Amino acid sequence: MSESLQARGLPVSHGFGKRDAGAPKSLRRPHQVHGVGVVVVREPGPEALGEADAVVCNHPQVPVGIVTADCVPILVASRDGRVVAAIHGGWRGLAAGVVASGVAALRELTEDELVAAIGPHAGPCCYEVDTPVLDALGERFSAILAAACRPSRPGHMWLDLGQVANAALEQAEVTAIERLPDACTACPGAPFFSVRRDGAETGRLLHWIQAG
Ligand SMILES: [Zn+2]
Repeated sequence: MSESLQARGLPVSHGFGKRDAGAPKSLRRPHQVHGVGVVVVREPGPEALGEADAVVCNHPQVPVGIVTADCVPILVASRDGRVVAAIHGGWRGLAAGVVASGVAALRELTEDELVAAIGPHAGPCCYEVDTPVLDALGERFSAILAAACRPSRPGHMWLDLGQVANAALEQAEVTAIERLPDACTACPGAPFFSVRRDGAETGRLLHWIQAG
């Protein structure tokens, strides 16, 4: 599961987190705030970056990453592997356009085709949202939102947030997209941290990528 971009022939290193996964050495990651900010990393340095929910890097010795515990992790690379990004796709960030801002920052560094992988997140089996969340997503994703939902309780829907992330990538004209199957973080017994299942104090999954 952790080698989907390499399997497509991209000369990058990357990993989607599980509960027991470690962090690569020299990793740099932003302070996530569920926004649309992007930080561009061009050199090694201390781990902590500023506030952002997407991190773009073109240095081959510096892995960059984001953390999640049910939100959608999105890793993107140029086909030549020289520019990479990790994007934190929660519903707030997706509604606000974090994928668009992350992809735009990537395109400032490369004209190559972009390839994306969508990692483990709370699936439609476990991710129930209410009307305000759907309203927020509806502004940007009206074309696909109905197809990504099925009814639960009154005023609530089960939502396939990965499908929303997929649509966000397509809107940003990234069409080579891989969605990892069978990777719901919140299902009972799944080998992931999940806020939905375990509460807000649970751990976080680290997802990282490093340019080749
Ligand atoms: Zn599930």
